[in-house]
Amino acid sequence: MAYAKHIFVTGGVTSSLGKGIVASSLAKLLQARGFSVTIQKFDPYINIDPGTLNPYEHGECYVTDDGAETDLDLGHYERFLNIPTSQANNVTTGRVYYNVITKERNGDYLGKTIQVIPHITDEIKRNFLLLDRSQKYDIVITEIGGCVGDIESLPFIEAVRQLRWDLGANNVIVIHLTLVPYLKSAGELKTKPTQHSVKQLSEAGIQPDILVCRSEQELPKEIRKKMALFCNVSYDCVIEARDSETIYEVPLLMQKEQLDQRALQKLNLPTYNDPDMTVWKKFLKKLKAPRRTVKIGLIGKYVELHDAYKSIAESFIHAGVMNEAKVQLEWIQSETLENPDECAEKMSQLKLSGILVAPGFGSRGIEGKINAIRYARENKIPFFGICLGMQCAVIEFARHVLGLKNANSSEMDKETEHPVIDLMEDQKNIQRLGGTMRLGAYPCTLKAESKAAESYNKTEIKERHRHRYEFNNQYLEQFEAAGMLATGLNPDTQLVEIIELKGHPWFVGTQFHPELKSTVDNPHPLFVHFVKAALQFDQKNKEKEKETTLKTEM
Ligand code: GLN
Repeated sequence: MAYAKHIFVTGGVTSSLGKGIVASSLAKLLQARGFSVTIQKFDPYINIDPGTLNPYEHGECYVTDDGAETDLDLGHYERFLNIPTSQANNVTTGRVYYNVITKERNGDYLGKTIQVIPHITDEIKRNFLLLDRSQKYDIVITEIGGCVGDIESLPFIEAVRQLRWDLGANNVIVIHLTLVPYLKSAGELKTKPTQHSVKQLSEAGIQPDILVCRSEQELPKEIRKKMALFCNVSYDCVIEARDSETIYEVPLLMQKEQLDQRALQKLNLPTYNDPDMTVWKKFLKKLKAPRRTVKIGLIGKYVELHDAYKSIAESFIHAGVMNEAKVQLEWIQSETLENPDECAEKMSQLKLSGILVAPGFGSRGIEGKINAIRYARENKIPFFGICLGMQCAVIEFARHVLGLKNANSSEMDKETEHPVIDLMEDQKNIQRLGGTMRLGAYPCTLKAESKAAESYNKTEIKERHRHRYEFNNQYLEQFEAAGMLATGLNPDTQLVEIIELKGHPWFVGTQFHPELKSTVDNPHPLFVHFVKAALQFDQKNKEKEKETTLKTEM
């Protein structure tokens, strides 16, 4: 029994074609027509969730309100749709097997031989329908990770085939995303890879309803006709997905190509409401015509892979738009800042108007982060520290202002004399890695007279966490007396969630991850105010420079 209509998005030819963005764009258009929509992602890898994956492997781990550690595509879903996702929105092969094996160990299968078909495919189908069963959605979009033809995605494809058979072709459609490469030497767009990948899908029993074709060039009529004929889809269901300057343009490109219209027709859903994209268009217009540029340093240890900080980078795009500015991110590897003099030199050369120190785990690059924070504190450059970034700000203050020699987090130095960041009691006996951190949304109460309260414009907030270590409250009095204030506390546990520096134009560290809640409709207030502070800093500097040139000219 299903309540919603289902759209599956598969991918062929290569990975990284942007299935997540196409799925989010379609969802946005359907939402803008008044449908209640959600998106879920099914990943073929064996990890139970991406929580234990190195960010270099798979980019950032996105955390939901309910504390699920999920694929970064869920970030796009939330940023585009402005709705929260949950554990049910991200399922991996590992989780499917884990559930089946747990049931088997409990004797739930009554002595049967457990097999990929039907037990694994049944479990996949049960998960396909989990969000549908909440009866909150008209349409559920499911993105199938990986590429059609991969061994590991076969059970998912088979489960899609079965679900379509179970529910009927008017209730379940398949959109196949493919690549139409342009061969420069031949001066031609090539359709063969698409034909092959559709053939592969057909061999698995699925005829796609719509083709979305990624291409660097415009798809001419003849190419569309050729693909329609050889891939067995109607001509108007060959959708062009041209490369675009920004992902935020894709919903409008898809609207122009009528992807939403075609999907609704196939699902026998009404198409008379045009999508209302007014807010989105306004956002895009501002995004494309910033009035100023501001340079902000993003300091982390995974900077070579920008996807490792996806949500932070997107939050800066949203916050930039709110300030009618373009945030130019300077990606800085924290390991290159380990020498304090070289760090100061590099920082001053870069002329940053703001410094963000990123989240992370383990000690690699940590001293570089601390040096950068010292530079931001002493030179009164707007600073934003997130999770490990906040913890580093605490360590830096302990060492250089409080004079607590070798102060550290016990994550980096178990023997430190001054564990200003320490493991909480209830974390001390945990041995396993997966899913054992402080995860998900927790409440936080803000001090009225603070940068945080000014940014949020309220004092009760909820933000998402993903960490093991905490500010050590034994040192709180000492910190506050010297000017580092705890301006956000967990009302239940009194854990420090936000620190700020008295007398600094903007110096905020958060134990939580604000970047996980920034959306196009609701840019995150801390990012918005950080960028604002950076713009003010930039403005002041420019005025100072002008003054000095005037003076020297006189
Ligand atoms: N490694 C730190 C901790 O576990 C910070 C984690 C993070 O930045 N997400 O507390």
